[in-house]
Amino acid sequence: MNDNPARRIQDYQVFGEFGEVNPSISDGATFTFMTAEKMIELFNTEIEGCFLYSRHLNPSDYYLGQALANMEGTETAQVMGSGMGAITSTITQIVSQGDEIISSRTIYGGTYAFLKNFLPKFGVRTHFIDITNLETVKNAINENTKIIYCESISNPLLEVANIPELRKIADEHGIKLIVDNTFSPMIISPYKLGAHIVVYSLTKFINGMNDAVAGAVCADHDFIASLRNVNDGAAMLLGPTLDPIRASMITKNLHTLHVRLKQHSLNAMFIAENLEKLNYRVFYPGLPSHPQHELMKSIMNPNYGFGGMITFDVKTSENAQKLMEKMQELKVGYFAVSLGFYKTLFSSPGSSTSSEIPPEEQEAMGMTPGLVRFSVGLDDDIEESFDRIKKALQIINK
Ligand SMILES: *Cc1c(COP(=O)(O)O)cnc(C)c1O
Repeated sequence: MNDNPARRIQDYQVFGEFGEVNPSISDGATFTFMTAEKMIELFNTEIEGCFLYSRHLNPSDYYLGQALANMEGTETAQVMGSGMGAITSTITQIVSQGDEIISSRTIYGGTYAFLKNFLPKFGVRTHFIDITNLETVKNAINENTKIIYCESISNPLLEVANIPELRKIADEHGIKLIVDNTFSPMIISPYKLGAHIVVYSLTKFINGMNDAVAGAVCADHDFIASLRNVNDGAAMLLGPTLDPIRASMITKNLHTLHVRLKQHSLNAMFIAENLEKLNYRVFYPGLPSHPQHELMKSIMNPNYGFGGMITFDVKTSENAQKLMEKMQELKVGYFAVSLGFYKTLFSSPGSSTSSEIPPEEQEAMGMTPGLVRFSVGLDDDIEESFDRIKKALQIINK
């Protein structure tokens, strides 16, 4: 298989019903059968090109899933109604009462809240650890551990996970390594580096338009078939189905992902370097000052850059709030949560996307109150954008 993720998406060809250049949008909640035998057979096993009911699988979701599987290098993929739908289905498919999970402590707030507050109701405990410290990971594993969970580039401190080494640890204990690659599609290929299962929020860079919420799980046939199983599959029974119209929109946007990523990365690098020159504490994996800069260089795919996410520190939460209001006024971008949009978005993690994490734990993770997270947009003239950021910083520092 070609090892260029963009090429692998490009080479995935599906024509529409009448030879359209895009696959037809599937417009039916249910599907007809010509024989009773076929329906019985489909209840028992998957049949290529045969669909049963749209919550189970529909053609538009299937095409998007296959395109994502091509990008990731997995056998297949299941798309979901949200990133959280992908994450919660994957985890609940694997664990049972009494099992334990080792998770990075710097993860998306929703995932953190799910592991910390929701799963204990079903007798599943999670240990939150520093995933960049492999000794800590090893020491946290016991005979009940079933999963190591992390993000390739974590939210909001942009720590980079050593996926190949984590896989070795997982293999020593026969457990699964699950990696959320939402911040770095194409840039990092977690499955090729050793992750058993890769989960995505498609809401972010992959769709890139901020007009849809969606997710995906990329893995081998067996795991995806278990998710879809009509008797005990989380994707079938919990119902996190993606609407086919949205799926077909996201499939089209996926084809421009590589172009967008290059511009996000170029712009983010410019802002990161220039903020650092102004002596701010900047977290960006493309900077030599980043603790995992060398690791990042050794695992990333060439050509897409270091991604569009930057976090930097303006010391106090008052500064952060004022700065974001000013930047919005000066049209740097929008004061909003989320990421991977064509315009720059900024938020302060402590009071928004990571607010599910209690203040004392935020402190232990190195999340200071003055952090501002940028998802850098596709600006044509990033120097002008940086001048505006500088102006906003001057105003709040007066
Ligand atoms: C947004 C996000 C999620 C959740 O995705 P939704 O599509 O909002 O459900 C999970 N992980 C990361 C890293 C995210 O940024």
